[in-house]
Amino acid sequence: MSPEIEAELHTRYPKILGYINEEGKYKTRLWGGFQCGDGWHQLIDTLCASIQARVEASGVEAQATQIKEKFGGLRFYIQGGDDQISGMIDLAEDLSAKICEVCGNPGKKKNVQGWLITRCDAHTPT
Ligand SMILES: [Zn+2]
Repeated sequence: MSPEIEAELHTRYPKILGYINEEGKYKTRLWGGFQCGDGWHQLIDTLCASIQARVEASGVEAQATQIKEKFGGLRFYIQGGDDQISGMIDLAEDLSAKICEVCGNPGKKKNVQGWLITRCDAHTPT
């Protein structure tokens, strides 16, 4: 994802994603940043908002350790969490298979030269 979006998500959801300290370094358990396209920005934003609300209401901890695309779908791994948070993540991962990873418009999972990707028609490589 673009650095601007990543920075915005860290600012909004420090409990889930970690934060940027005074020296400008990320203090986070998230390994490798956001390894997916900007099209899933709103999906990840909504997921993090839901998890952070659950964390604040319940006191349970949930810190993202890896966020990436795999086989055309979002994978969102956390340390901690509970059954409610697992359900939120399952929903977001399922939804990612219907959202273009490039632009966020409705998309479909497609097999392009042996790679599974989720794209709208405009962003499907030929
Ligand atoms: Zn698209």
